[in-house]
Amino acid sequence: MGMDYSKISEWIIREDCFDQNKLGKCEAIMSLGNGYLGLRSATEESYLGETRGLFIAGTFNKFDENEVTELPNAADMIAMKISINGENFSLSEGTVEDYTRELNIRTGELKRSAIWISPKGIKVKIAFYRIVSLKRLHVIAQHVEIIPVDSDIHVEIKSGINGKMTNTGSQHFSEGDKRFYDKKVIQFVQTTGQSKIDFVDTTVHKLAVDGKVLEMDAEVYIERREIFAGYSVDVKAGQTFVVEKYSTVYTSRDLDIEGKTVDKIQEIAHENMKELEEIGYQALMEESKKQWEEEVWNLAPIHIEGSEMDEFAIHFAQYHMRLMVPAHDSRMNIGAKGLSGEGYKGHTFWDTEIFLLPYYIFTDPKTARKLEEYRYLSLPGAHAKAKHNHYKGAMFPWESAWLDDGEVTPEYCDVDVLTGLPVKVWSGFIEQHITSDVAFGVWQYYIITGDEDYMEKYGYELIMDTAIFWASRLEKGEDGKYHINDVVGPDEYREHVNDNAFTNYMAHWNMEKAMEYYELLKSEKPEIFARLNEKLGLEAAYEDWKVGCEKIYLPTPTKENILPQDDRYLSCRDIDLSKYKAQEHVGGITRDYNLEQINEIQVSKQADVLVLFFLLENIFPQEVKKASWKHYEARTLHDSSLSLSTHSVLACDMGEKDMAYDLFKKAAAIDLGPFMGSSNAGIHAASFGGVWECVVYGFGGVRMLGGKLRINPSLPDSWTKLSYTIIWKGQKLSVEVTKDYVEVKNITGTKKVEVEINGEIREL
Ligand code: BGC
Repeated sequence: MGMDYSKISEWIIREDCFDQNKLGKCEAIMSLGNGYLGLRSATEESYLGETRGLFIAGTFNKFDENEVTELPNAADMIAMKISINGENFSLSEGTVEDYTRELNIRTGELKRSAIWISPKGIKVKIAFYRIVSLKRLHVIAQHVEIIPVDSDIHVEIKSGINGKMTNTGSQHFSEGDKRFYDKKVIQFVQTTGQSKIDFVDTTVHKLAVDGKVLEMDAEVYIERREIFAGYSVDVKAGQTFVVEKYSTVYTSRDLDIEGKTVDKIQEIAHENMKELEEIGYQALMEESKKQWEEEVWNLAPIHIEGSEMDEFAIHFAQYHMRLMVPAHDSRMNIGAKGLSGEGYKGHTFWDTEIFLLPYYIFTDPKTARKLEEYRYLSLPGAHAKAKHNHYKGAMFPWESAWLDDGEVTPEYCDVDVLTGLPVKVWSGFIEQHITSDVAFGVWQYYIITGDEDYMEKYGYELIMDTAIFWASRLEKGEDGKYHINDVVGPDEYREHVNDNAFTNYMAHWNMEKAMEYYELLKSEKPEIFARLNEKLGLEAAYEDWKVGCEKIYLPTPTKENILPQDDRYLSCRDIDLSKYKAQEHVGGITRDYNLEQINEIQVSKQADVLVLFFLLENIFPQEVKKASWKHYEARTLHDSSLSLSTHSVLACDMGEKDMAYDLFKKAAAIDLGPFMGSSNAGIHAASFGGVWECVVYGFGGVRMLGGKLRINPSLPDSWTKLSYTIIWKGQKLSVEVTKDYVEVKNITGTKKVEVEINGEIREL
């Protein structure tokens, strides 16, 4: 009982049993959205254990001085109180038969239906349908059907806008204008406390019995922070009573209404309601479904033959990767939980560049460019962070929100199991690899798309500005080498380490890339060189990069071929980790040991050295990768959702197909699997990118290596065929792989493309 996978061949994920103690899972994994807004799939009627949520990308607000900025939970517009003959509809009362909640990921429609027999014995068939339009960024539409089975009923509906929502207690809004136009349209304005963003929420209801629209005035209920419409209707046995609700959200940060006053936005939203009402739910759903087809499924089709579940998993990842990405606006980026929950406060991490960006670059370069523009636009925050820490250049925040916020990582979380004191989050201070991750993202985007315009406007500057940071970050050691001390690498179980391999190699890569582009610009693009030289002082910077690259300490493999993760990891003690490796819930080790103790153990939260092998694959020999994979995997608890996919892709590269497949299955189950508690705070955005990486990079064998495209596929035993498309330098390539052949076609065909396929260079 719980998640049901019997309809995955129809692209449907189901819940077959309603349990009000396990609401978070479906609210998050079945959430709806379009990159502008994200709506958790909470039910129309309320339950005790629910977490309702509506998030609008980029509308960050800081509740008070002691909290960091976060994406506020906007007013709830989907709630509906339904009373039948005076009894409130609730699935936790009376008897429920034929219950199902389904998300169709192909159409983006959520459906819930049941036969409900009230405590007093009234039997109704009830069904709820809902979409967030992919075509109209601001629109949510709902369709509710109630059919009394064997007696006439009197239905009362109370539905509207509830502005009392909080982020686990933090109320981000002050109350504004409430309107009730023509005894029908409800409108509510709220403004965020600190960032002063106005939200204009508008909603209207349309009622019908057996297809005949009921022209009736609503009762209006206006209370503090809420406004509702009430309707009472008599419905005869067998008749179908329908309520449709159309809602919109606009904010004063929206680009499509930029410069408009709140009054004007209110007017636009009000006007909009008439149109939505005329179009109606079904047509809104159809046009949104068409948009899903065009924008996602036709754009980047992926098919797996041999396992329906695996095919569903990759489509499910694509579904969520569309929901989470603000493709409409480059002033915002992807949150670690997308727009599906309050977890990680809507903040952006390295998750974007390392785990998600490849999907967008290879399938939807325009959107990828937006994500990369965001990093350029947030340079002021990166400069401020560098200055504050007495470094030069651009030092990107570990957690990032609005453009000029700079570092927004909270300073404390959890409680230390031994001391009982708050645990300090060091990432915001010393998890510094994010800066080269950003530079790497720029480079990936450029090489794969060939977008020279982006580079000239933003990319070269980003790579050089980040390299300036690294040169200033290096510390001269007594051994004459330059070190990077006191950092957190990707593995967040090890704090205050020196010479983390990932950090040092990536800093080296960053400075080397800056030198390469310095030379290129100087000889081929002198105007851009002159502009950047004036802005960043390139000539002096070049000398620092050169010394930095020569002198930076780059850890070398041990005689057992293991690349040390940092200067102490390999000398720490080993303990029996089997208990934690077998755990169902992540983080078990932190309940037995505090972080200081964990620092003394050879244990990793997530892939660290292995991410380095993944990004800079061709600089490490296979034996080092193999020995290191074995050493670290045995000690990695995969307590971050970012870990499994990296291990899977590398296992593929090493020819360990079964292991790769097993890890892929685990990665795919992070949100989609049957564990009911793991997605409560929101889906795991990066792990969806990871699932795509497992399929296309791992089994599909695609990699951009040293600027070249390589395709080396190797299918899991159960797959008979894998097909996908990728866009390489503007040319769309379709790839079909079976156990016997690999076929790559250039379907755009306007330019020649060079690809290395299974070791042979081909021109397409
Ligand atoms: C991981 C980080 C990740 C963050 C957001 C943490 O638990 O350790 O690597 O960036 O979650 O997903």
